[in-house]
Amino acid sequence: MRLYMLYLGTMQPGNIPVPGYLIQTNEGINILVDTGWPRSFVDTPANPPGLTVEIRPEDTVEARLEAIGVNPADIRYLICTHLDEDHSGNHDLFSNAELIIQKEHYELARNGHPRFNANRDSWGHPSLRYRLIEGDYELLPGIVLLETSGHVPGHQSLLVRLSETGTVLLAADAVMHHSMANAGTRQMFVTDMEDEPGIRRSTQKIADLAESENAAFVVYGHDTEQWASLRLSPAFYE
Ligand SMILES: [Zn+2]
Repeated sequence: MRLYMLYLGTMQPGNIPVPGYLIQTNEGINILVDTGWPRSFVDTPANPPGLTVEIRPEDTVEARLEAIGVNPADIRYLICTHLDEDHSGNHDLFSNAELIIQKEHYELARNGHPRFNANRDSWGHPSLRYRLIEGDYELLPGIVLLETSGHVPGHQSLLVRLSETGTVLLAADAVMHHSMANAGTRQMFVTDMEDEPGIRRSTQKIADLAESENAAFVVYGHDTEQWASLRLSPAFYE
């Protein structure tokens, strides 16, 4: 099994990475995680207040997949960590895939929560097929979705068991930066919804799994320093 780290753009100030991930099983099943800001941002970024989003042509999810020989139609599953703007801008490209999301999160967005309006045309595209799940869920052997509510209700992280690297945890926005990895002392972030107990519980869940699985590493959601040191696609971990 291979795990690719997809670099889907940069947010300023702070050179903050926008991540996505591709998992390829030994049977050739392609599993994408998140899709970044809308591809229209290459030409016309619609920056939210206080943020400048830089998406180069090579940063789009299509371009990152193409560089490793994968077309959008080849994606079997699209895992939605959550539907914030920087994670769901190109879901509409993946109508061949089954989209997998926590039921609680999908219903919050589907019922019109304004936080998820910006990309509604993408993640809410009528051609998309969603599988709604509740709680932790083993999608395929060695690929476990983890319910990590807090940043938003029904946020998901992932656990991926690789044969050479070992277990890797993709925290996504449950833990955005290594400085937030301690559940007891971590800061909340400006984009976290008002659920401090949930955030601390999910941060602890990631830390506990990292320990019990003897994980090789945890990938934090928007960690400038860490992402500068990761093996980015087209290279991969296996
Ligand atoms: Zn994010």
